[in-house]
Amino acid sequence: MTDHSPADVLVAGLGPAGRALAFRAAAAGLAVTAVDVRPQRRWTATYAAWADELPAWLPEDVVAAHVGAPAAWTRGSRVVERPYQVLDTARLQNFLDLEAVTVVTGRARDLDEHGVTLEDGRRLRARCVVDARGVPADPQRAQQTAFGVIVDDATAAPALDGQDAWFMDWRRDNGTAPGDIPSFLYAVPVGDGHTILEETCLVGRPALGLAELERRLYARLTARGVRTTGEERIERVRFAVEGVATAPGVIGFGARGGLMHPATGYAVATALSSADAVVDAVRRGTDPQRVLWSASSRSVATMRQMGLRVLLRLDAGGAIDFFDAFFDMPVARQRAYLSGREDAIGVAAAMWRLFRVLPPSLRGTILRSLH
Ligand SMILES: Cc1cc2nc3c(=O)[nH]c(=O)nc-3n(C[C@H](O)[C@H](O)[C@H](O)COP(=O)(O)OP(=O)(O)OC[C@H]3O[C@@H](n4cnc5c(N)ncnc54)[C@H](O)[C@@H]3O)c2cc1C
Repeated sequence: MTDHSPADVLVAGLGPAGRALAFRAAAAGLAVTAVDVRPQRRWTATYAAWADELPAWLPEDVVAAHVGAPAAWTRGSRVVERPYQVLDTARLQNFLDLEAVTVVTGRARDLDEHGVTLEDGRRLRARCVVDARGVPADPQRAQQTAFGVIVDDATAAPALDGQDAWFMDWRRDNGTAPGDIPSFLYAVPVGDGHTILEETCLVGRPALGLAELERRLYARLTARGVRTTGEERIERVRFAVEGVATAPGVIGFGARGGLMHPATGYAVATALSSADAVVDAVRRGTDPQRVLWSASSRSVATMRQMGLRVLLRLDAGGAIDFFDAFFDMPVARQRAYLSGREDAIGVAAAMWRLFRVLPPSLRGTILRSLH
């Protein structure tokens, strides 16, 4: 079957990135078709972002929990003066409404600049084709893994030590030795009186397995006096942090398009805040790829890939040294490294500052990771 009336935009993949783009494009009056294997699938992951990363068009009620200043523990605890928000995943998905989008159920097989061929042979055509199919979590790609439990706030309290949230808690009361592959505790409120306590392997190739993270999480929780019942809701996390090259003329978006931060695994806020740039380019008839990938954003991506290679080489002791120096930087420098895609000078300054203050052994690790 062939669709003879090309859409303005065709989005393959309706995860957070594709859905945000389809929603914003339709809201701007474009004719949008979107295809997903399971378009009605409800999202269940806990998505969070720094508050300043989220676009102004996102309503307040998609935020499930607001943390004014999350804490990080490296050699001691410190507070990061930068508000952090946990999204209400169901509300986010509902808000990114697809009423004005032509939604097709199917598996996109071949994408090219004129359209998408589905596995069953159907052909969908469009002026602008967007690949937002996410990235398969293959073992050869760097991945993030995590194992979390969602408990009520009172149960979680001993793990938080009076902090509102741990963005990263690198204490080794999870039973690890300095030479082990590191993991940290991510502990944030998720709304409705609950908190997620998640043992996280930031990046690994291969990343730590979920069974090992589960063992470490319960070792840590036991050490802190957190009592769980075994009935808690569990969150299992495994996703690739590296993008995939898209076909010529096809716009890669979200994780697929390399818009995920490779050293942190954050991608949702970037997709939400980048959607309008793509929409504007389509409306004006300019090339969205050039808008998404300016010279500075390509430099930022290259530097962050270097950052990923450094993280992949760190053991538990090195991770503590690295993040101790990281959270010692002013918040503006941290932000440049973690967020946004255009501030090449800010990213370079953050990386240079880290390099200067890290112990010689870690500088050696950084230099080796450049090759
Ligand atoms: C439990 C968990 C927690 C996370 N927490 C955060 C967080 O706090 N903050 C953050 O920024 N990121 C977080 N992430 C990472 C998160 O997965 C990504 O940021 C986000 O999902 C990327 O969105 P995406 O739309 O690019 O890709 P995906 O979410 O992977 O969506 C891809 C979509 O494409 C569809 N698809 C795939 N192949 C095809 C095909 N051939 N044809 C048609 N459709 C197809 C899939 O069905 C899916 O709907 C988390 C991930 C997990 C698993």
